[in-house]
Amino acid sequence: MKLSIRGERLSGESGTLRLMEDLGRAMAEGDQYMLGGGNPALIPEVMAVWKQRVRELLEEGPGFDRMLGCYDSPRGNPEFIKCFAQYARNRLRWPVDEQNIVITGGSQGGFFNLFNLLAGEKADGGTGRILLPISPEYIGYANQHLDEGVFHSLRPLIEETTQHGFKYRIDFEALREVESASLICLSRPTNPSGNVVAESDLLRLYQESRRLDIPLVLDNAYGIPFPGIIFGDVKPFWKPGIISSFSLSKLGLPATRTGIMVGPEELISRIVAMNANTSLAIGSIGQALVAPMLNDGSLDKLCKDVIRPYYRARLKDSLAALEESFKDRFEYRVHETEGSMFLWIWFPKLRCTDLELYHKLKCRKVLVIPGSFFFFGLQSKWPHSHQCIRVNYSHDPVMVRKGLEIIADTVAKNC
Ligand code: PLP
Repeated sequence: MKLSIRGERLSGESGTLRLMEDLGRAMAEGDQYMLGGGNPALIPEVMAVWKQRVRELLEEGPGFDRMLGCYDSPRGNPEFIKCFAQYARNRLRWPVDEQNIVITGGSQGGFFNLFNLLAGEKADGGTGRILLPISPEYIGYANQHLDEGVFHSLRPLIEETTQHGFKYRIDFEALREVESASLICLSRPTNPSGNVVAESDLLRLYQESRRLDIPLVLDNAYGIPFPGIIFGDVKPFWKPGIISSFSLSKLGLPATRTGIMVGPEELISRIVAMNANTSLAIGSIGQALVAPMLNDGSLDKLCKDVIRPYYRARLKDSLAALEESFKDRFEYRVHETEGSMFLWIWFPKLRCTDLELYHKLKCRKVLVIPGSFFFFGLQSKWPHSHQCIRVNYSHDPVMVRKGLEIIADTVAKNC
């Protein structure tokens, strides 16, 4: 089979493929310590809400038939878009309307469209790059572009916050030296580190995006307003020209593949066209489930009263379990988990690479994500990028505790 260069790139080996295949295999086999992929926790109270919504949809009759039996517009379901615009105006206080919103096939599909729309080979022969101001950044971006070499990731500053804690900070001096890019993109909370970049730094980032005359893209997959897996007091951030991405996945609905993108009308209308050209329309089920919960306050309440406390409790337990297993055995640091469902663990004295550690752990049935997958686009080698792993802390506490014990045991032999 003769593939195109782009076909080769898009269908080749990648961290995302490995992660998703590991996840699928572990779910099928069922005897693994699943600290790897990005599946949200199946919180019983949350799943009960979705079951109730399905019952309501069944009773609604024509609504249910429409949901399954009709293509929506490539912008998304008109009723959902209307509700979301109202929600954005009233709840987030953003001056947007329906023309500023598009639904995407998961936010993953939205990023594919956005990145290929703005970055890559340009008419003048240059390459428009995607600037990631804080590496490590979400693994799922890495293989999203049709062209090679479009990512330009900046090494962050490392602040040691406590004896075993650390936090990445944006290196604004390095950022000011960047002369051109096509967009700046940041996940907040950041996957994998759980970093929530402070509002004052967001403002500076926005100013840099103005200097470069390019959009700033904020990925809120774990953030506010939903699912709200953020543990400090954080406000929605909006400025003219910003593109914000949201997802229903971490509300417990990843299988509905629903993302929402909000941004300038001329750009959003291009994504609408890309939806039509690549998929005709986006799946309707997630939108139908969530639409009535946007403006009656029930979605916000679910995030505030159930989802955030759940993750906060799971985080507390897993940090305690981690300390018990790791303490006094080897050097380690954990990034401040200000949001998301991950522990980002750094072993500064690791004698093997993160990938070797990943394989050793996999042999012992513990699945984690090797950290180096998240450091794509760096301009020079960085030993730190081979000294970290990402652990999903959100599942069964007994499993997480046991998994952390096996990690400690394995690392102790390799430090
Ligand atoms: N952005 C971030 C930071 C993520 O972690 C994920 C998935 O885990 C996505 C985007 C894509 O999510 P989805 O396509 O399920 O909306």
